Amino acid sequence: MDYLPSSKGILKKVLGYGYQIHPGALKMLESLDEEKALEVLGSIPEKFPEAIVIEVEHVEMLLEKTAEKKATATSEFGSKLSKLSKLNGKITQIYDGSGLIQRCPKCNRWIIDNFCMVHSDVEGVWDLRIKARFDDGKERCTLIFKKDMTEKSANITLEEARKFGEAATLERIRGALFGKNFEIAGVKLNGGNFLVKDIREV
Ligand SMILES: [Zn+2]
Repeated sequence: MDYLPSSKGILKKVLGYGYQIHPGALKMLESLDEEKALEVLGSIPEKFPEAIVIEVEHVEMLLEKTAEKKATATSEFGSKLSKLSKLNGKITQIYDGSGLIQRCPKCNRWIIDNFCMVHSDVEGVWDLRIKARFDDGKERCTLIFKKDMTEKSANITLEEARKFGEAATLERIRGALFGKNFEIAGVKLNGGNFLVKDIREV
C-alpha cells in the first residue's frame, strides 16, 4: 500500500505503542496534521487504559475533548470570531465624522443636513460610528467601529445618542476611548484601516 510518509509514520507509531487500529480510526488520525494525530494517540493509554484496538469511537471522543478545551481557552475574548487579527495599543485620536451621523438612505454615504452629493435632498438615516487612530507602539492604523461596536465601546445606544445630540455623543465616545489601552479583535482592511469586531479595555 502507498502511504504518505506522515501517515506511514502514524501507523508505525500506533504499532510502536503496542496497539492495533481499526482502519476507520487510522483514517481519522491520518486526516489530522501529524502533531494533532500524535497528541490524540499519546492520550489513548491514559484515557482508555483497557484498549487493545484503537476504535473510531476512541478517536472521536478524544477529538471532541480537545475541541472543547480549545473552545474554553478562547471563549473569553472574541470567541464567536475565528481568524481575527488582534491588536494591543492605545487610541490616540478620535477623527471627525465619528459619533452620531446621518447616512444617505440610497447609497449609505455619510451625509450632512440631509444632503447627499449624489442623491441631493434625502431623508438621512441615523447611525453611529467611530473612526479612531490606534497606536500599538510600532505602527498606527485607523480603527473603524460600526454601530454595534460603537454602542458597546461607548456604552450608548443609537436611541440615547439621538436624545443626547451629536456633540454630547462625541464627548461620550471621547471619554470612553481616548488615551486608553485596548485589546482589539478585528479584520485588517485596505489602506491601514482595521474593522473592529471586539474590544476590551486592558
Ligand atoms: Zn446618496
